[in-house]
Amino acid sequence: MNLNANPSVIDDLVIANHILVNEGVLDGFGHISVRNDRDPGRFLIARSMAPGLVTSDDILTCDLDGNVHDDQGRKTYVERFIHSEIYRCRPDVMAVIHSHSPAVIPFGVTGTRLRPICHMSGFLGAQVPVFEIRHAAGENSDLLIRNQALGQALARDLGNSAVALLRGHGNVVVGFSIQQVVFRAIYTESNARLQSEAMRLGEINYLTPEEAQSTSDMNDEHLGRPWEVWKRRVQARGY
Ligand SMILES: [Zn+2]
Repeated sequence: MNLNANPSVIDDLVIANHILVNEGVLDGFGHISVRNDRDPGRFLIARSMAPGLVTSDDILTCDLDGNVHDDQGRKTYVERFIHSEIYRCRPDVMAVIHSHSPAVIPFGVTGTRLRPICHMSGFLGAQVPVFEIRHAAGENSDLLIRNQALGQALARDLGNSAVALLRGHGNVVVGFSIQQVVFRAIYTESNARLQSEAMRLGEINYLTPEEAQSTSDMNDEHLGRPWEVWKRRVQARGY
């Protein structure tokens, strides 16, 4: 394997796959990628497989047109265009997660927007955009981001946000590192669960956009702390 990438990044990418399964963000589906820090026009992602089973031998390189560069001719996920087009539009983004994490789905199919209700999820900003694939793919699509055009449409709707929901499908989360994007994906799921519970109790007092920004900045200082716990849990389960 010669991916021309820092080996510790590959190790973190493998562990991140397992953490996201263990914490209920990914299941047999979904994927995480990281931009190659030595070659920003390419990113690393597992071959098309269940994320819980990924090892370092399964990591491939993909370019921003969605072409896989692999000596063995292996394939990655059909929805790799989510990653390639976001990396193209957002030079600040170094890692991307696409998941179907379940508690988030209701906020993509109703008029209720996902908004930050606690200090752990200030990265959600004022509210989270929803990508409506019918606007780009018509009425009969299978909802997957199967090509560059759909990836571009999604990246456009994501804009400068950290998270976008895909109506009836899942969500995409971006970050400046693997640790940050994993943190955000886990707390996106957690915020969705809490917001649904709080809505049953009464009117919600959300974070203001300023509180969202301040809490997000604060959490970025401590990304290593939960990462070590999540990693330990994965190791304890013998992944
Ligand atoms: Zn998907």
